[in-house]
Amino acid sequence: MNDYDVIVLGAGAAGLMCALTAGQQGRRVLVLERSNKPGKKILMSGGGRCNFTNLDVAPENFLSGNPHFVKSALSRYSQHDFIALVEKHGIAYHEKTLGQLFCDDSSKQILAMLLEECEQAGVMIKTGCEADQIKLVNGDNKNNDTRYYKILSNKGDFTSQSLVVATGGLSIPTLGGSGFGYTIAEQFGLKVLPRRAGLVPLTFTDKFLSMTYRLSGLSLLVTVTAGKQSFLENMLFTHRGLSGPAILQSSSYWQQGNTISINLLPEVNALELLTSFKQDGAGKKKSALLRTLLIPYLPKKLILELEALWWPELADTPVVEIANKTLERLAGQLNNWVLKPAGTEGYRTAEVTMGGVDTNELSSKTMESKQHPGLYFIGEVVDVCGHLGGYNFQWAWSSAYVAGLVV
Ligand SMILES: Cc1cc2nc3c(=O)[nH]c(=O)nc-3n(C[C@H](O)[C@H](O)[C@H](O)COP(=O)(O)OP(=O)(O)OC[C@H]3O[C@@H](n4cnc5c(N)ncnc54)[C@H](O)[C@@H]3O)c2cc1C
Repeated sequence: MNDYDVIVLGAGAAGLMCALTAGQQGRRVLVLERSNKPGKKILMSGGGRCNFTNLDVAPENFLSGNPHFVKSALSRYSQHDFIALVEKHGIAYHEKTLGQLFCDDSSKQILAMLLEECEQAGVMIKTGCEADQIKLVNGDNKNNDTRYYKILSNKGDFTSQSLVVATGGLSIPTLGGSGFGYTIAEQFGLKVLPRRAGLVPLTFTDKFLSMTYRLSGLSLLVTVTAGKQSFLENMLFTHRGLSGPAILQSSSYWQQGNTISINLLPEVNALELLTSFKQDGAGKKKSALLRTLLIPYLPKKLILELEALWWPELADTPVVEIANKTLERLAGQLNNWVLKPAGTEGYRTAEVTMGGVDTNELSSKTMESKQHPGLYFIGEVVDVCGHLGGYNFQWAWSSAYVAGLVV
């Protein structure tokens, strides 16, 4: 008996949510998962505590070729709907920062919740089962009753009226990252937009790399701007370059060859700080050096690196003796440090894959292919990528729910 109403490919966040919703509508649902267990990314997410949604979800928190595409699904299954589900299961949670909701205890609770809901809805989950070919049978027949999808896998063949592709993106292959969803889309003639790593650390070379290496582990609040988008969050120096929330967020807006700008003093006008010190404040501290003046604002280790980079010849010159023009240049660098990343760390560490199945190919109300009735794409495989902070899971829940209602 390998015939189902609905087959969902992938037991990740989107696949499980879609399966349980479809099961609740009385559909006979089978989920095929190639890993040995479901929900691997859920388990690893949010440092083991799963940042499952955000209190403030808006279409502006998502990148997509069509920025309006997310609106319908997000409004029909909102963050409040998911929070209600979490509360129904008695899972304790808290807001960490910027509306981001995390489990108090463990991501395992979110996965257990989804699996329990699947079980109650009669959903079958087959793990260790990799789908490798899809066939549409009676596809030309206008009568939908005789059309079905045949899924060939390492555990045999399965058939269903509806096929939901929830195979995720390319990020972190060891956690299930796979290009199979894109292959299916292309097989059925759907346009797939170019993919690249998103929410990913940026890498550097040469002199700046040696600097980040020496500073690795140091984190500070900055504003990072890439393209037209700015993020005021923490930035972390690493052995390979820059990371931390401000950089991960900006990476989604950064294109190879472009620069980023870092404001090291997001709450201070550096020019005002330096010139007003020179004009008025120097009375008592005539001999104060630039590095001393910056101590209340930046970590000392970073100031010493910046000194070696930007004002080595003035290291021991009191601020009052530095020419106004030079102070202007240094203030400009402190508030607007322009850097050119060499690249990103790629899919090995990226939290998401940008690009994917073109939203123009799908109904924004149901996620169904406009060309192929019964074929659905949900979650990360679609060209929708959220900001850091619970938005990607919310997209998985919302897109899965609207599909689950109608599959
Ligand atoms: C380390 C890490 C931490 C993250 N933390 C957060 C966070 O805290 N908050 C947040 O909002 N987002 C977070 N994300 C992003 C979030 O995990 C993804 O956006 C989300 O998991 C996408 O869900 P999905 O169901 O579309 O894909 P996935 O969760 O990737 O699930 C796809 C599933 O399909 C399976 N599959 C693939 N190919 C096949 C095949 N041929 N046959 C059968 N099965 C197949 C895979 O094994 C996988 O289980 C994180 C990502 C990573 C990598």
